[in-house]
Order: sequence, then C-alpha cells, then structure tokens
Amino acid sequence: MDLTPIGKNAIVQILGEESQKLLQELRFLIVGLGGLGSFVASELVYLGAKNIILVDNDRVSRSNLDRQILYGWHDVGKSKVLVAARRLKQINPFLKLETFDTRLTKINANYLIDKADVVIDCTDNFDTKRILNRVCYNKKRMLISAAVGKWEGWVASFPFYKEKEIPCLECLFPGDLETLKEISENNEPTLVTTVASVATFQVNEVIKLVSGEGENLVGKTLIIDTKTNQCVIAKLKKNPQCSVCSV
Ligand SMILES: [Zn+2]
Repeated sequence: MDLTPIGKNAIVQILGEESQKLLQELRFLIVGLGGLGSFVASELVYLGAKNIILVDNDRVSRSNLDRQILYGWHDVGKSKVLVAARRLKQINPFLKLETFDTRLTKINANYLIDKADVVIDCTDNFDTKRILNRVCYNKKRMLISAAVGKWEGWVASFPFYKEKEIPCLECLFPGDLETLKEISENNEPTLVTTVASVATFQVNEVIKLVSGEGENLVGKTLIIDTKTNQCVIAKLKKNPQCSVCSV
C-alpha cells in the first residue's frame, strides 16, 4: 500500500527513495499548533512524513484565523490538536497521528520527547523553548527551533544526536543576539506571510536532514526579515558557561 499518496513523485524525483523512506520512518513531534505549527504540520504531510505527534493545549480562537491555516470559522472553541489532526488526515488518511491536548512542561517533556526522533519547536515562548532545548540535548534528539515576530523570524537546528560541540539554544541567550529573544517572546500580531516563510525554512531543515543534501543551520541562525527581503545567517558560539551543554 502506498502510504504517501501526497508528494511521492516530487520527493522521489528530487531527493531519492532513501529520503522518502526516512521521511516515512522518522517520528516528528510538533510542539505548538499555532501559526508556525500549522504550516510545519501541513508541509510535513505534503512531503510524505507519516508519523506525527501534535502537542498544544490551546483552543482555536477567532484571532487565530488570519494565519493559522489548519483552522476555520467553525473550529472556534475547539481543541487545536484535534482539529489539526482531522485536517491533516484529510490530506493523507494513512498518517499515524498522536495528539496531546496539553502544554509541554518540565513534567511531561521527557515522556513526549521519548516518542520522537525530530522535535520541531513551533512555540511562542522562551520558557518552553528552554525545556525543549534541555531535554532534546539530554536525549540526543534533533531539535529544529524557530520564532516569528511581525515581519521577521529566525530558524536554527540542533542535531544533538550526533554533534557534541555545537552550541545549544541556551547558549544564545542572553548574549549579543538579544533581538532573537525579543522575537521569541513576541506577543504582537504576526503576518501570515511571515509565519509561512519561517515555517518553510524550518521544514527545509527536515528535507536537508533526510536527504543529506545542502547544509543544515547548525551552529548558526537564519534570521529572516520579510520587510527588507534580507536573510542573514548569524554564527553562534558555544557558551563555555552554558548550563545545558557545557556542564
Ligand atoms: Zn549551550
């Protein structure tokens, strides 16, 4: 049975059968089903990912409908992970989906991250990012983190399963990249185009991971400014005093 009716041809033609197989085998944990998470989940399904775990405790609100593409008017008030799962299954009914209608916390992070090979951080607060970073580091998981502001966002990859000497997310803050923290804690409105751009770069990290082609954003952060059309790659330094990766 063909378990990836969507995107099979493109994936095989562009990335090869091994990449497709890996996409089907890897377990993806998407934390946060807001703007970023909506795009990331959809794009992963279109690529042919098969095993997806969704975590979010939010309900759909009217104010989400300008950028969170998995939800519609009739979903207001409903659980985001349940609505998202239903929509993703419409795209590919063969998906293996797990949903957790809960917030990722220090208490459940180990349990949730144990279920995954690749963790995709689509959260909008730095406390959760910190927990994800620490647990992914300890459990040697691939973490792909991102955040969005009004017009801008950033993406960085942390393949903790293979590289010990790379900086982790904790190394970045506080530091000379303080603006990244501001973006990460942004509670201002965000444009759907910004969210789509940043989420796509996040999923691109998955494509590079499974294909071995290109270069992952390891030890660096891609900063995207959709207003000025500028993308800047900032090199990240490992902090020798980092409480996560330098102990
Ligand atoms: Zn660190």
